[in-house]
Amino acid sequence: MPEPGHNEPQVAGRRVVVHGLARSGRAAAELLRERGAQVVGVDEGSFPREWARRTLAAIYSSADPGALADAVLFVLSPGIPDTHPLVRAARQRGIPVVSEIELAYRFAPGSLIAITGSKGKSTTAALTGHLLEALGVEHVVAGNIGVPFSAVVASLRPRHWIVLEVSSFQLETIDAFHARAAVQLRISPDHLDRYPDIEAYAAAKARVAQRQTAEDLLVVAPDDTWGARLASVSAARVAGFATTWKETGVVRDGDALVWRTPESQQVLARVQDVPLLGSHNLENAMAALAILAGLGLWEERARAALRTFRGLEFRMQSCGEISGIHFVNDSKSTTVESVRAAVRGMPGALLLALGGRNKGLDFRSLRDDLAAVRVVFLYGESAPQLARDLAGAAHLERVSDLDALLRRALEIGQPGDTLLFSPGCTSFDQFDNAEHRGREFDAAVERVREAMHA
Ligand code: ADP
Repeated sequence: MPEPGHNEPQVAGRRVVVHGLARSGRAAAELLRERGAQVVGVDEGSFPREWARRTLAAIYSSADPGALADAVLFVLSPGIPDTHPLVRAARQRGIPVVSEIELAYRFAPGSLIAITGSKGKSTTAALTGHLLEALGVEHVVAGNIGVPFSAVVASLRPRHWIVLEVSSFQLETIDAFHARAAVQLRISPDHLDRYPDIEAYAAAKARVAQRQTAEDLLVVAPDDTWGARLASVSAARVAGFATTWKETGVVRDGDALVWRTPESQQVLARVQDVPLLGSHNLENAMAALAILAGLGLWEERARAALRTFRGLEFRMQSCGEISGIHFVNDSKSTTVESVRAAVRGMPGALLLALGGRNKGLDFRSLRDDLAAVRVVFLYGESAPQLARDLAGAAHLERVSDLDALLRRALEIGQPGDTLLFSPGCTSFDQFDNAEHRGREFDAAVERVREAMHA
């Protein structure tokens, strides 16, 4: 018998619709099937046939309202907007619409650490998991970072901590979802192709803290407008992470990272213990420290574990040097804010590479951050718009592809410079996703290295 979760829906023998059969939708369907539901899949066909035959009771296209017949629950995948006609029809019929994380939460024993924000979620979640591992605290890391929440439910016991990376899309349709620790990293414009404005986007993110009580922990950046706003209305204990902050939280005092409460101060670690590139990653680490200290899980040996964290691929990852130029792969950078963080966090002169498919972002605000940038290389679909947004703010140069980018970087760059590949746009104009783009960048650097040694 599985351990009880939180307010489990009664699905045995009943029809449940799962709309969208990508990774998290498929994991939701499997979880529902294990719990005895008749799972009705809705998708236009991008899923393995054999998997569907084993798991689903029926399959419909999203244009067919027949999918909703006798359904007691509707699970919405993050890729499908809440305004889809089938979702509207489900609501009209009174069928509860929930996201995959809400479904998984309802079945999951254990306590939730839910991490959201615009950037840094995966890094913070991975580091939190890394520290819990070193402390011998039983936990899983799930959500957007890799394994869907639904896929880990069967392995959970009540003593587990669930470190969950959650997106605003998944938070739109939660209900019982209650985080023992909710973390909202900084909010900056993102996904404005899906939300009418940043208020709507921030409102979706703020739901991470819904249902929290005075027993729970809320971790925010108190100098972020949205973090401060959420803290001011929260019922939970608030812990901030900031360079200067007078209340409870992780603060920086010289090179010490200090856990401060009204009663006490404790040095948790030193800035040098954080082995990641960029000041934004120091913030992510401070958020992770605030989670552990705020939940009373921190122990001295976590400091040594901090030093061994290797970070995540394609987020400010060093690819080493060629001819004295340092190459940094930040392919996961898909917003103006992540470019700004990357640029601000790096010492010395920079050769910055931007491009890809812009998702409705305005790059003009980057103009003031380019003082240390020797040249901005532009590539891909968004190059013309980026050139307009940044004209006159730095030397701009168009390059046709990654090989041309590296060739020019080696021609223009001086020893001690850093080539920062932090595209600020999505990869979908030329690559499957940001990981694919990151691998291609690594491969291009390797080709140059081999050519130099040939
Ligand atoms: P997320 O999971 O929120 O997308 P990641 O940790 O995967 O965040 O990092 C994605 C990109 O954002 C990378 O380019 C990384 O360098 C950058 N980044 C990470 N943390 C921050 C931060 N706190 N502020 C701005 N950019 C960040």
